[in-house]
Amino acid sequence: MEQLTGQLAEQVERVGPRAELQTEAQAEGGSTQPPPTTKMEQWTIDLRNSVTSGEKLAADFGGDAGMAEVIDEVCRNYPMRIPRYYYNLIREVGDPIWRQSVPSVEELMDECAPEDPLREEADSPVPRLTHRYPDRVLLLVTDRCPMYCRYCTRKRLVGRTSTITEKTVTMGIGYIRSHPEIRDVLISGGDPLMVSDRKLEGIIARLREIPHVEVIRIGTRFPCVLPSRITDSLCAMLKKYHPIYVNTHFNHPCELTAQAVEACGRLADAGIPVGCQTVLLKGVNDDPKVLKELMHKLVLARVRPYYLYQADLTRGTNHFRTRVEKGIEIMQALRGHTTGFAVPQFVIDAPGGGGKIPLMPDYVVRFDDKEIILRNFEGKEYVYPQADHRYVKDEGDAEDVELINF
Ligand SMILES: *Cc1c(COP(=O)(O)O)cnc(C)c1O
Ligand code: SF4
Repeated sequence: MEQLTGQLAEQVERVGPRAELQTEAQAEGGSTQPPPTTKMEQWTIDLRNSVTSGEKLAADFGGDAGMAEVIDEVCRNYPMRIPRYYYNLIREVGDPIWRQSVPSVEELMDECAPEDPLREEADSPVPRLTHRYPDRVLLLVTDRCPMYCRYCTRKRLVGRTSTITEKTVTMGIGYIRSHPEIRDVLISGGDPLMVSDRKLEGIIARLREIPHVEVIRIGTRFPCVLPSRITDSLCAMLKKYHPIYVNTHFNHPCELTAQAVEACGRLADAGIPVGCQTVLLKGVNDDPKVLKELMHKLVLARVRPYYLYQADLTRGTNHFRTRVEKGIEIMQALRGHTTGFAVPQFVIDAPGGGGKIPLMPDYVVRFDDKEIILRNFEGKEYVYPQADHRYVKDEGDAEDVELINF
């Protein structure tokens, strides 16, 4: 800490885990200190033990002062936090866990990319609520995360001076209440499980009181980066407000440790359907074999693969982008080759705020008024006649069929 410049020290103070935990987990009483009788939950202690300095990384991975300096330099722009649990999964510099969690100098090299490529703010009728699709909204309830993923789409927001308060959340809930077309609320952030169970329950309970809200979804990376957050008491709270869905976020098979699998299992045991949103990331998982193994491990953990995202155009994340063909190749390697529900949908979240657009390998060879000619997963072709056309057996050959128009 001694070598830190004043500016950096201030940044560390601002993004440091200690200050925000007090605001997130203990703010309800208006005090920054936990009341003496309150036992700290294990996960909040685990979070306080996160890795937040380049010095620690350089010391543990044989780096020099230069390595520490580069990491700290990037942290001045984009914060770092790596829970010890996730940190312990790093095997070597540059491996898939490292790339997702440790700042890289490349983050400072694409100044031209937009900060908010999905234009979430343009589609926000009230702050931190995005209403893009007719019947569902995205509600941000915190801008803190257990880990700051280097490729994050909301890199402009997370881990900085907080712009989300009790008031913005209440305004968001008010908006939902006054819009009966909203039947699905996606609680996100940051990571919504950064807030205490009590505060989260306050939000969920208020949403549940709204008659037109059918589905409540929570998007969280905790099962992957700090599974101790998924406590029995959290699950018991959530199950009171069914239907609750959770979408979690795993990107690599080595993230599915015994603890992560147990955390997903606790959610599933509470009757919560658990999905997974994966981001296609260069140098992390841009390989059909790796992603197939990930999908299989997710299904074993009772997690249903949901989306595979093409990386967004967010500033500071360009080095994670793959060519679009890579995602299509991966989909081709999954569909038909493995369990149907182990196959996510590959999407591009359209730059400029167009929403998620699905992409898949081309299975249509030809399509006209009479028939469609299709290619199956093995590359063989098949004909399906249109509804006003049918096959009849040819007199000459019982095996052969031909199409007649009637
Ligand atoms: C992804 C997203 C949703 C939810 O989309 P689904 O396809 O229903 O999962 C809702 N609103 C916004 C702004 C989103 O980005
Ligand atoms: S947990 Fe989600 S919101 Fe937070 S840094 Fe990672 S990708 Fe971004």
